Amino acid sequence: MSRRKVSEHIAKNAAERVKRLRPDGIDQYLPLSGGFAHMAEDPFTDRIEREPYRDHVTVAFIGGGFAGVMTGAHLKEAGVTDIRIVDSGGDFGGTWYWNRYPGAQCDIASMIYLPLLEETGYVPTEWYVHGPEILEHCQRIGKQYGLYENALFHTRVTGLEWDETTRLWTVRTDLGDEFTARFVSLGLGHLSTPKLPGIPGIETFAGRAFHTSRWDYAYTGDPVGGPLGNLRDKRVAVIGTGASAVQCVPHLATACRELLVFQRTPSVIEVRNNRPIDPEWFAQMATPGWQQRWLDNYAANMTAKEQPAEDLINDGWTAMASMWRNAEEGSQPDSDTSEEIGGEYYADMEKMGRLHARVDETVEDPRTAELLKPWYHLPCKRMTFHDEYLDAYNVPTVRLVDTDGKGVERITPQGVVVDGTEYEVDCIIYASGFEVGTAPTRRAGFDPVGRDGRRLSEYWADGMRTMHGLHVHGFPNAFLVQPLTGGTRFSNLTHNLSEAAKTVAAVVAHAVSTEADVVEVTRQAEDAWMGNVGIDPEWRTFLGTECTPGYSNNEGMDLGPHSLWDEHEFPDGLGFFQHLQEWRGSGEFEGLEFHRSDR
Ligand code: NDP
Repeated sequence: MSRRKVSEHIAKNAAERVKRLRPDGIDQYLPLSGGFAHMAEDPFTDRIEREPYRDHVTVAFIGGGFAGVMTGAHLKEAGVTDIRIVDSGGDFGGTWYWNRYPGAQCDIASMIYLPLLEETGYVPTEWYVHGPEILEHCQRIGKQYGLYENALFHTRVTGLEWDETTRLWTVRTDLGDEFTARFVSLGLGHLSTPKLPGIPGIETFAGRAFHTSRWDYAYTGDPVGGPLGNLRDKRVAVIGTGASAVQCVPHLATACRELLVFQRTPSVIEVRNNRPIDPEWFAQMATPGWQQRWLDNYAANMTAKEQPAEDLINDGWTAMASMWRNAEEGSQPDSDTSEEIGGEYYADMEKMGRLHARVDETVEDPRTAELLKPWYHLPCKRMTFHDEYLDAYNVPTVRLVDTDGKGVERITPQGVVVDGTEYEVDCIIYASGFEVGTAPTRRAGFDPVGRDGRRLSEYWADGMRTMHGLHVHGFPNAFLVQPLTGGTRFSNLTHNLSEAAKTVAAVVAHAVSTEADVVEVTRQAEDAWMGNVGIDPEWRTFLGTECTPGYSNNEGMDLGPHSLWDEHEFPDGLGFFQHLQEWRGSGEFEGLEFHRSDR
C-alpha cells in the first residue's frame, strides 16, 4: 500500500466532504411540530382517558426506556418501592417502543445489549435480536419489577420544579397531573427526537408520509415483520440511507410496486453474521455472573489501550476497535507510513477498500455499486451491519437515486425532485434520523427549575455540567441516567445506562435509609469532574476539518455547546465503570452532600 494511494484516498474523502457542507448546519432539519405535529403522534397504542394525579411519590423517573426500567429495577432491589415512571409513549420500551419499522434490530450483541438477562432468566433467540424481542424484554423488566402499577403512559412532562421549603420536586404533565416527588431522575435518550429534512416543498406532498420512528402500519399493512401487503401497488420513496433505512429497505424492496431510495451519503455496510442462539450453548455458557463478565469483556475490547487476551463477542465492533489499536501502534501491514500520514489512515483506507469490494461483489449493476460506496473516514459516522441491504438493489423494482451529496432538491405534491427530475410516488418514508446537537432541554420539552429558581437551560447554556454524567449542582435530589459527560461512552449504550441506574439506586437508597431529605453534588466536586471532561483537541480538529457532515460533528459546523463529544479522560471505559462501582460501593459517595432537616 503506497503513500500516494493513501493521499489519494484522503483527497477523495475531502472532496466528498466539501460537497456536503452547508451553511445551515443542523438548522437544515425540521422538528415534528407545527404542520408536522401529526407525524409525531403515537400510531401504536390507543390513548386511555384518566384523571390527573395530585399525589406524592418517592421517585419520579422521566422516560420509560431501558434507563427507566433499569433504574426502577435497581431501586426496587435496593428497597425503594414507591416509583413512578412517566413516558410519552403508550408503554415501556423507549427507542424500541417508537422504532418499530420492519427489520429494526440491535447492532450490539444481545447478550450484552439486553440488560438483566440473569435476573429475568431470559435467553435471547438471536445473536443480534430484532426490535419486537427487545421491546418485549424492556416490558418484561417492567413487569418483573412491578413498574407498571404506578406508571403514567402517553404522558409528557411539561415542568419540573424544586421547592426549597418542602424539599420536594413538583412534576407537571400535559394531562394536568401535578404531583410531588422526593427524587426525580431523567432518562430521555439522546437519539429520541425525530427530525425531518427541511427540503423545500416538504409540506406540499399530497401522498402519505411518515418517519421511520412512527411506522404507519395502517398504511403499509401487516404488523411488525409481516410482508407489508398494502404496498404491492405503491411507489414508495425512502429519504435517507442511515442505519434505519439500511434495516428497513430490504423489507420494502420486495413489498412495493417500486421502491426509490434517495441517497445523500451512502452508509458503511459491514457484515452482520446474525445467527440463532443455541439454548444448549447458552445454558452451558451462562454460569453465575456471566453477563457482567461479558459486559466487562466487551467494554475492555472496545476501550482498553492494550488488546485484551480474550474477545467473547468477536464481531465487527471489536474488530474495528482492535484495528484502531493496531493502527495507533503503527503496526499496519505496510510500514510505508510517514510522519504526515498516520497509521490510522492506512487502516481506514484498507478497511474501506474491503467494504467497497463487498459492494462490488454484491450489487449487480456496476453504476449502482459505485454510488453505494461510501467515501469518508470510518469514524465519521456510526457504521451499519447488514447482510441483505446491498442485495436489495438487485431487486428489479428497486432504484437508488443518488443526489451526489446535495440531498433531495425539492418535494412536490406528487413526489421527490432530484437534479430537475421529478419522481412521482404514493408515499414518502423519512429515514432522516434524530435531533443531535440541540439543547437537551429543548429535546426534553421541559426545562427543570432547580434551587433558587435556576433553569437547567441557563446552567447548561455553555454545555452540560455534571459529576459522572449523573449529578448536577443546584438540582438537588435529581439524577440523570445517560452517558454524556460521564467517564466513557461506547457502542453498547445499555452498559452505560446500567451503571448509571445502579448508582442512582444506591444514592437514593442511602438517602432514604439515612433519612436525608436532600442530596446534592457540591460545585467543587462537579468542577473537579468537569475539569477532566472534554474533547481531545486532535479529535475535535479531525471532526471539524476532515469528517463528512453528520450528527457526530454537528453537520460539519463548529461542534457547539451540545456536542456528543465530551468524555472524561479516563484511561479506559472499564476503568470508569470500576470507579463508579467503587464510588458507590464505599458508601461514602464522595462529592455528594446529604442533608437531613430538623424535624
Ligand atoms: P441518520 O441520522 O443516521 O440518517 C439520516 C439519513 O437521512 C442520512 O442518510 C442523511 O444523509 C439523510 N438525509 C438527511 N437529509 C437529507 C436530505 N435533505 N436529502 C437526502 N437525504 C437526507 O438516522 P438513522 O435513523 O438512520 O440512524 C440514527 C442513529 O440511530 C444511528 O446512527 C444509530 O446510532 C441509531 N440506530 C441504531 C440502530 C441499531 O441497530 N442499534 C438502528 C437504527 C438506528 P447524510 O448522511 O448525508 O446526512
